[in-house]
Parts: sequence; C-alpha cells; structure tokens
Amino acid sequence: MTDIWALALHGGAGPVRDKNYEREEAHMRALLDDGAARLAAGDAALDVVVGMVAALEASGLHIAGKGSSPNTDGDWELDAAVMDGPTRRAGAVAALRGFASPIACARAVMEKTPHVLLAAGGAEKFCAAAGMARIDDPGAYYTPASSRLVAPGELAHGTVGAVARDVQGRLAAATSTGGLLRKMPGRVGDAPLIGAGTWADQRVAVSCTGQGELFIRANVAADVSARMLYARQSLHAAAAGALADMETLGGDGGLIAVDADGAVALPFVSEGMKRAWATSAGAREVKTFR
Ligand code: ASP
Repeated sequence: MTDIWALALHGGAGPVRDKNYEREEAHMRALLDDGAARLAAGDAALDVVVGMVAALEASGLHIAGKGSSPNTDGDWELDAAVMDGPTRRAGAVAALRGFASPIACARAVMEKTPHVLLAAGGAEKFCAAAGMARIDDPGAYYTPASSRLVAPGELAHGTVGAVARDVQGRLAAATSTGGLLRKMPGRVGDAPLIGAGTWADQRVAVSCTGQGELFIRANVAADVSARMLYARQSLHAAAAGALADMETLGGDGGLIAVDADGAVALPFVSEGMKRAWATSAGAREVKTFR
C-alpha cells in the first residue's frame, strides 16, 4: 500500500473549435474531484473507472450512453469495455441495444460470464437476465450530444473513458461509446475490443478515443504496453508512439494512460480532446483544446 494514486478521464477526441465545452468541463471537474477523493480514500481503480464512465454515460454530454447518436437505421447500438490490470480480467459489450449503462453491462460480462465480449442479441439476453437497467423507449431516452451533419464516408465520433492507478498499485481502464456518427448497423469500433481501444495490465491502463477503424488496425491500447515492455519506452514515449503509428494510417484521435508509478499521459492528434486528470502529487487539470 502506498499513498500514490492517479486518475484520468476523457470525453472523446471529437471536439470542434466552434463549440463551447464549458458544461462538459464543469461536469468533468466535479467527477475528477469525486474520483480523486475515492482513490485517496483507498477505493479500487476498477470501481472508480467504472463509476466515472457510468457518470459520463449518464450525463448526456458526450457521444456515449445517453448522449449517443443513432445509426443509419435509427437504432442506438453502443459499445463498452472494462479491464482490470492486475488480473487482466476483461469484459465488453458490442452493438448493444436497450441498456442504460453499457459499462455496467461490460463489467457484468467480466464478472458473471466465462467470456470477454458479448455482442448484439446475445449480449442483450445476458444483460436482461443479469438485471441491468433497461431503456424501454430509446427515442425518448437518448439526447444526442452531437447534432453534427456528417459527410458521407466521414468518421466523426465521440467516446468516454477513464483510467486509474489506486493506492494498492492496481491499474484499470474503462471505455464506453456511441461510436461513429451515422455508422452502419452492426458496426463495432475499437472501444470494446481489448487491446485496440481499451487495455490494462500491471504496467499501464489505456482508454482510446478516435476513429475506431484505425485504432483497431493499429491495436493502439495494447501497443502502449508493448512499447513499454519490449522497447523500454517511458509512458509518454509509448503513448505518443502508439498514437503516431495510428496516425500514419490516416486516423485521428487520442488516448489517456496511467502507469504503475502514477504517471499520466494524454496525447491526441485531433483538434481537441475533452480530458481531465489528477494525481496524488497535486496535478489537477481539465481541458479540451491544447
Ligand atoms: N473510438 C470510437 C469508435 O470508433 C469513437 C471515439 O472514440 O470517438 O467507436
């Protein structure tokens, strides 16, 4: 047991210059203070990241949970994943319809099934049986955070995520998303794919945001850990390197990462990334642009 803890949150790397993000930043500031207090009091990283992501989902301020947009058929299909560093247990849901908190559903997959990822109808059957909170009228429940008009082929997006190191040195990561705006039915992004958009082990916890197709092809989240292990890179070099590799494929986005020493990295290669971080060393910042 130490007194070192660290926490980072993101609300997606889709912000555009002509929009004001004061409400999102105020909400993140409040969440950050709550999460920091919980970690300082000894709460587990896993509980804190799931709690943070559930609150971000429920806020309706980001393209995740309540703020998600429908796909081209007018249906809401959401993705989420959680990973526990020390055990490398993981749970995820993909193309999930009809449940209020995809991250709570992902945690249930991790804790109540022998599987890592459940998708679509099977995920819904499991979540209903597990007693997860349902949405009966999606049209009334969802309040899309983005009203952007998306050009054909454009990969416009948003997500929420959290990573933490607790005072026992445990790392955890959680990510939840409505995915791309005007995505095709059945499209699954990087967020629920362990290694691509979400990762945690004993070295590092990572939650990504950006054009999921590119993050999948670059396997960004696990690449951060691989760079630290095999190339002996620092957290900052590994996070920036993994993101730069994704960028060479033509994508944009960012990630948040925390390592076993409580260092935090929040690189992005997009116009902005809604983000917040705090550490036991006294750092505390909430920001959207550079
Ligand atoms: N990565 C997410 C996805 O492709 C979107 C985002 O992070 O903004 O589903």
